[in-house]
Amino acid sequence: MTVNVVLPLPLDQVFSYAVPPALEADARPGCRVLVPFRGRRLTGVITGEGPDPDDVDFRLRPLNDVLDERPTCPPELLRLTRWIADYYVCSWGEALKAALPAGFTVQTERRLALEEAEAAAWPDDDDAQSVRRDLAEHDSTTLSAMRKRLGLSVSLQRIRDWADAGLLRLTTTLSDPSVSAKTETHLQLAGPFQSRSAARDAAESLRGDKQKAVMRTLATAHEQRRAPVRQADLVDALDAPYSTIHSLVEKGLVERTEERVHRSPLSDLPPPGDPPNHTLHAAQQEALDALKAKIADASYHTFLLHGITGSGKTEVYIAALKQVVEAGRSAIILVPEIALTPQTVQRFRAHVGDTVAVLHSQMSAGERFDTWQALRDGRKQIVIGPRSAVLAPLDNLGLIVVDEEHEASYKQFDPAPRYHARDVAVMRAHMNDAVCVLGSATPSLESTMNARRGKYTRLSMPERVPTSDGTVAQLPEVEILDLTKQRKKHQLNGPLSDPLLEAIHTRIDRDEQVLLLQNRRGYAPVIECADCGWVPHCTDCSVSLTEHSHGRQLRCHYCGHTRRTPSHCPSCGSDDLQRIGTGTQRVEETLSRELPQATVLRMDRDTTRQKGAHHALLSAFREEGDILLGTQMIAKGLDFARVTLVGVVDADVGMLFPDFRAEERTFQLLTQVAGRAGRADLAGTVMLQTRNPDHAALQFAQTHNYDAFAEHALAERKALRYPPFGNVASVEFRAPKQEDAEHLATQWTRGLQERSDGIDILGPNPAFIQRVQRYFRYRTILKTTAGPGVLQRALRHARDAYGSPPANHYVSIDMDALDLL
Ligand code: ADP
Ligand code: ZN
Ligand code: ZN
Repeated sequence: MTVNVVLPLPLDQVFSYAVPPALEADARPGCRVLVPFRGRRLTGVITGEGPDPDDVDFRLRPLNDVLDERPTCPPELLRLTRWIADYYVCSWGEALKAALPAGFTVQTERRLALEEAEAAAWPDDDDAQSVRRDLAEHDSTTLSAMRKRLGLSVSLQRIRDWADAGLLRLTTTLSDPSVSAKTETHLQLAGPFQSRSAARDAAESLRGDKQKAVMRTLATAHEQRRAPVRQADLVDALDAPYSTIHSLVEKGLVERTEERVHRSPLSDLPPPGDPPNHTLHAAQQEALDALKAKIADASYHTFLLHGITGSGKTEVYIAALKQVVEAGRSAIILVPEIALTPQTVQRFRAHVGDTVAVLHSQMSAGERFDTWQALRDGRKQIVIGPRSAVLAPLDNLGLIVVDEEHEASYKQFDPAPRYHARDVAVMRAHMNDAVCVLGSATPSLESTMNARRGKYTRLSMPERVPTSDGTVAQLPEVEILDLTKQRKKHQLNGPLSDPLLEAIHTRIDRDEQVLLLQNRRGYAPVIECADCGWVPHCTDCSVSLTEHSHGRQLRCHYCGHTRRTPSHCPSCGSDDLQRIGTGTQRVEETLSRELPQATVLRMDRDTTRQKGAHHALLSAFREEGDILLGTQMIAKGLDFARVTLVGVVDADVGMLFPDFRAEERTFQLLTQVAGRAGRADLAGTVMLQTRNPDHAALQFAQTHNYDAFAEHALAERKALRYPPFGNVASVEFRAPKQEDAEHLATQWTRGLQERSDGIDILGPNPAFIQRVQRYFRYRTILKTTAGPGVLQRALRHARDAYGSPPANHYVSIDMDALDLL
């Protein structure tokens, strides 16, 4: 018998091994195995049966060991990870590594110890007797060491039988203690003393008061069916020393057992309380009915739930979830990293209770390991988490929800696989006849296009949930402030215009609150005319040009086109060409000068570096702040009833960022921040400062008109053959020396050019940010309208033709890259 094994290496191939007879029963697909590989021993996963030994022209080496009694990786996850490897052009091992908990390369160790030394108690055959003799000589040996000594002749099944018969003791541990199973000590009355009278009589006969108290407590626990109880709790409650308990155990009155503890971040949360019992409003009911019909069919379908912020999408997810759970199926709820708060988790738990698990990267390795096991064993049927939760080991999947599906945090970047969790969710739902729901107030253009093409069904909830008196909260008024006009009228105070400052003033006087968005992510060396707002663009790529060579040159970092930086604005003749975003750091200064009485809190990467700082800043703002000034961090998920003004200091920073999605991102961001203003009974206003007041993203954000924005943006994407009308991929090359990075990029790209039919290959060019952490970066961009397959074939060809890059050189393939920076 032979098997194929995938190893956690960047090599996209399986390796074949012979299975020694003793391991045949255990070597099943999905089981982890220990194998020899180029002088090392590696942990891998069996993917299936291997080739006929007669058909291979090399010597098949044997497996060293099978590490699982039950496959760690369910067959469905094997299929899904294979798809990920194919689609995102990475190795199967890399995809599996993303799916399995930290313990993928952790080794399970089986230890054996002799329990029954008497030869006659053991079966009368050579194997059994030699195991018995071996164990008599080697106390607590590992199974693989013993097998080596005995020449691998005993099957695990026989070992287990002997363990069951009490001849030996078999323990399984993981060699990394942080992910091994955790236990704690529990106590209960020993069998004969479990009746009330027996316990009382036994207690009477004891001398120590503490001993009596322990007996009484355990008797009560037994009566109330709360036994066994945790030893630590009992010791705390009665202030009894461990010696008291120990002597009761010695006397045979109390039994002590070690129980497995399942670590979970949820154990720190209070019970979730009763769920609110809303009657769904009409749009919610309509959406739910559509979902329910497909859930009842148990057939694959993807829905795009387009509902504005506060329209009640989460309630719809929950109602659908209940139906799935009732049907005995499981579900995955994906949320953007930033939205995974205890409140979100509690909201789901309130409705579906203890079947909910949470899985995210900030949990300890032990918590993740236990949670993963709980899902794998079916003790939990629902998982909530950020992107990686799409790979959770759930059986019988009925529903996958992707909330805020447009969020960029669903795309994994480093390490590979560079997968998009939304797209994996759709594929996984498809493989499992499950329903997938993509929810958003500003759906990605990809999803909107898929809905238009009929691949997804669009459901729409265009209004906010009515307040208790039946009125519907209105969306805020959006004002656009033209900075070039303000400048001419001398109404600009550094980065802030008079109307915005006045508006802030009024709000503070009324004891209301203000959010000021200062977009930093967009910071880029892009120039803009301060008088008319003109910005240099690459006409082929529709991205802004960035400054290079100390400002003397402008370059398109997609296609490499360069031109000289003009000294005057070609549009109005002004010589005041400025870098976008300069001066935004002066917002805080300007505020303290113009509004010295205001309490300003700043929230950005610098002020939130410490754990808990984010939360502390928000509570400080809630309690005593006037202005919350921050990066796009402040745009998401915040809900402050007293915020009635949202100001965007420089809407151009994001909009003119040199990326083809800049406009879409800006529209989404502006719609998000607008959703923060006037959520309760106070009406809200949004003020956007810009030098490009006619820009589409601003115009459509002003009227809250998603459909018109999508119409406009899709036309532009179509003209330039960007997604969703084509596919893009990017390949990044890194090396410590510039010439090495360039050489690597050129050589590797040559492989792409050999398969370039139907593909535009742009580059290699220096990347947008040329140097990161002492590495020089080059980038090649691929565009096609012939479908993802042609890109994947070209990428695979180039990868295989080049082979492994030299030490310290890196190649990152990003299929469906979100940005091409
Ligand atoms: P979304 O997820 O679209 O932002 P939510 O589901 O969070 O919206 O709903 C917004 C608020 O309205 C929540 O506080 C929620 O409890 C409440 N809500 C949702 N649906 C209803 C309903 N049918 N009746 C009353 N309140 C509702
Ligand atoms: Zn100009
Ligand atoms: Zn270009």
